[in-house]
Amino acid sequence: MHEMALCESIRQIIEEQAGAQGFTRVERVALDVGAFSGVEVEALRFGFDVVMRGSLAETARLEIHQSKGQGWCLPCAREVEIAQRYDACPHCGSYQMQVTGGENLSIRELEVF
Ligand SMILES: [Zn+2]
Repeated sequence: MHEMALCESIRQIIEEQAGAQGFTRVERVALDVGAFSGVEVEALRFGFDVVMRGSLAETARLEIHQSKGQGWCLPCAREVEIAQRYDACPHCGSYQMQVTGGENLSIRELEVF
């Protein structure tokens, strides 16, 4: 499962940060999940619980912020918000769109002790 691997890397980042900053417990993990990241939120939550077991983020609260996708519309020559990868431009209805944002998954915030 793709989400499992993502949680493994989140755990790795947390452990590196803990080593560097000297915290021992993570209270909250906030993630930014882009609309086109291909991440299923439910699977991500499940993976998080499993992967964080026995780690310093075992009892951490997981907050998921889903962000909208962005595309560059050629006819409009500007960036627009789109909900789906192959959506038409909300302004001109064109499909000549390049996805420019929303493929990310990143850690927005870590609340630690
Ligand atoms: Zn357009």
